[in-house]
Amino acid sequence: MQDAVEKAAAKEFVQDGAINSVDTLGGLELASFYQSFNEGVEELSSTRRLFITQIGLEPVLRERAVELGGELRFSTELTHFSQDETGVFARLRSRDDGEEKRVRAQFMIAADGAHSPVRKELGIPMSGRGEITQCATIYFKADVRPLINGRNLSVVYVNQPQLLAFFRFSIAGDAGFLAVFALLDEQGRRVPLREENISSDNCATLVRAALGVSPEFPVEIEDVQPWTATAATAASFRQGNILLAGDAAHVMPPTGGFGGNTGVADVHNLAWKLAMVIDGRASPELLDSYDTERRPIADMTVEQAYRRYVERVDPSLPTSDLAPNIADTAIELGAIYRSPAVAGTVQGDDLTEAPEQAIARPGTRLPHHWLQVEGGEVSTLDLVGRGFTLIAGPDGGAWIEAASRVDDLDAYRIAERDIAKAISLADHGALIIRPDGVVGWRCDEADDETSALAEVLSLWQAM
Ligand SMILES: Cc1cc2nc3c(=O)[nH]c(=O)nc-3n(C[C@H](O)[C@H](O)[C@H](O)COP(=O)(O)OP(=O)(O)OC[C@H]3O[C@@H](n4cnc5c(N)ncnc54)[C@H](O)[C@@H]3O)c2cc1C
Repeated sequence: MQDAVEKAAAKEFVQDGAINSVDTLGGLELASFYQSFNEGVEELSSTRRLFITQIGLEPVLRERAVELGGELRFSTELTHFSQDETGVFARLRSRDDGEEKRVRAQFMIAADGAHSPVRKELGIPMSGRGEITQCATIYFKADVRPLINGRNLSVVYVNQPQLLAFFRFSIAGDAGFLAVFALLDEQGRRVPLREENISSDNCATLVRAALGVSPEFPVEIEDVQPWTATAATAASFRQGNILLAGDAAHVMPPTGGFGGNTGVADVHNLAWKLAMVIDGRASPELLDSYDTERRPIADMTVEQAYRRYVERVDPSLPTSDLAPNIADTAIELGAIYRSPAVAGTVQGDDLTEAPEQAIARPGTRLPHHWLQVEGGEVSTLDLVGRGFTLIAGPDGGAWIEAASRVDDLDAYRIAERDIAKAISLADHGALIIRPDGVVGWRCDEADDETSALAEVLSLWQAM
């Protein structure tokens, strides 16, 4: 799967590019946010950040979903739903032939986007800064190679007196998109993006202005998509048997590239919980921890995306009420979950930790370290499978033995004392990692490993 995503990403973009801000693509650099998109990531993961469009990624996900037995229905609209204590009833309509089908399911994930009709129907309000600006993404063809001039650029913010926007370019340098946040008049007042100023001709003029080229420079407009930059989070991610995920649960400006990633992190948190509940291995209360864990993190991420919007795009906005800056890596990999689905709590009320200093505290992501195994090396992250995983310290043989008597519990002993020390794992200690790679429990030493394990595993089963 990782290979397939990397291949698809490599077809679309040069990876590891810079993120900067310019007056025009061919003109002055105003600020540099990243020299390389993967700066500081190497130590934190066995993989790297990838640039890929949804159009590039979704076929890869679709193929894998089908392989796993998923049934995908395209051109199908949810036209009605209702729920009772035992599940959800939905009516679906084919957009191709109008045929209607009824579906009964135990649970429904509403991943129906920023305007989520399901969220609205459930009456779940959004709170936050709300709508910030009317935007449009202009997809164009133009030979921008001479302007890029050999630079490796991932995201290029364009800050001009009349135009606030950002570019991304195709790997061949012959196409790209310009996401326009705002047009400004001569007095610096915002000009709303309306149909008349996003006509094809006007869009070509905007692209040329952002590139810094003459009106004769050939630019072909392929498509223009209007959207609204908004910063808000749903008041609840669960109502009965319906769970909100992705943009349906939180919307944020694209500054930072967190929107889609936050949605992926939602369902990463939710999928194993749903699986346990559906299989009867846990009670539906486990699903409450989805909201408890994910909503504060989504809220924090929305605020960080807004902060980056002010810093990178529109410094004229007030800064006094901005949340303190949190590093990208902490937003992406440093979430701290506090809920009944974690045994033990990280003290304080910080929502994130610096993953560079992570020591496998309960509620945080298992840190990445390379382990030597027969035939090569694997990441600690690769020890985590579809169920719970016990990771024992170098002298934790008794844990491994105890785990061998428990169904569906993988176990691994870290022989390397330096790695155990790096994650603060006592020589006779053990960690239990949840299926989403989050440390669920840790123990420095136990008198009776078998009963300690039985006790902690019952935590998730009892919920
Ligand atoms: C210019 C721009 C740049 C961005 N860059 C990044 C980035 O670099 N990194 C990042 O992580 N994120 C980025 N994002 C954000 C990202 O695109 C979104 O967060 C992500 O697409 C949300 O995915 P989603 O599946 O939740 O919602 P959507 O992609 O909106 O999908 C919702 C789907 O539900 C369908 N739907 C709605 N109602 C119904 C119904 N009744 N029946 C059936 N289907 C229905 C819709 O048709 C749609 O297909 C960017 C966004 C923009 C605008």
